[in-house]
Amino acid sequence: MGRYGPYPAPGGACSGYLITAGETQLLVDCGAGVLSRLFAVLPVENLTGVILSHLHSDHVNDFFVLRYALEVARHQGRRVEPLPVWAPAEPSAEFARLAYRDVITLNGVTEGEELMLGRLRAAPFPGKHSLPVYGWRFQFDDSVLVYSADTEYDPRLVFQAEGADLFLCEATFTAAQLDQGLKGHLSGQQAAMIAREAQVGRLLLTHLSPAQDLNVVLAEARAEFLLTELAEEGKVYTLTT
Ligand SMILES: [Zn+2]
Ligand SMILES: [Zn+2]
Repeated sequence: MGRYGPYPAPGGACSGYLITAGETQLLVDCGAGVLSRLFAVLPVENLTGVILSHLHSDHVNDFFVLRYALEVARHQGRRVEPLPVWAPAEPSAEFARLAYRDVITLNGVTEGEELMLGRLRAAPFPGKHSLPVYGWRFQFDDSVLVYSADTEYDPRLVFQAEGADLFLCEATFTAAQLDQGLKGHLSGQQAAMIAREAQVGRLLLTHLSPAQDLNVVLAEARAEFLLTELAEEGKVYTLTT
């Protein structure tokens, strides 16, 4: 749905990914601009759940509007069940703000506690960022998708991404910016080094900054791992086993 952070490019959207696995329709992150795209492909009553990787605004701000759509769907009888939502429980004030009447069931994420959403298995793992954050490893039958969420370099990510068919990894910085001491995010080059070490099938770069020359980010990544692309908004990526 959206590939930008920490703010969208003109006409673009911040982080938001719809995972379809059998009957399961899971939205992962819900940043600015995601909702109008989501509703172009899926009515709110068909959503199985929402995972928010962390509570920075570029990953949650359309979530607050999603709650109104749920409320209207309930009034109209289109959706009776509350929508299950998973997010880090810290910062607690931010977490508490996610709750809204009885249209949401809010769950704190705990490391090591896997979710089963239909046949989709979802396992959280902590990242290194300015707020508590969880990346996720998703498995459906034999297909594995790993989402880094926002994180700076962490050697554990190689283990978390191990053998993924698709590694959706943030690439906010250029290598030069990392050299200047910027922290909290990865460069495309670092994402690609992790992808290579983890022997993933494909690397998809996301959380792209509108302030960057994305050709530089992509070229730096491809120098390390050839099977790298920039995520495209609105594109469907199919994992087959
Ligand atoms: Zn972000
Ligand atoms: Zn963030």
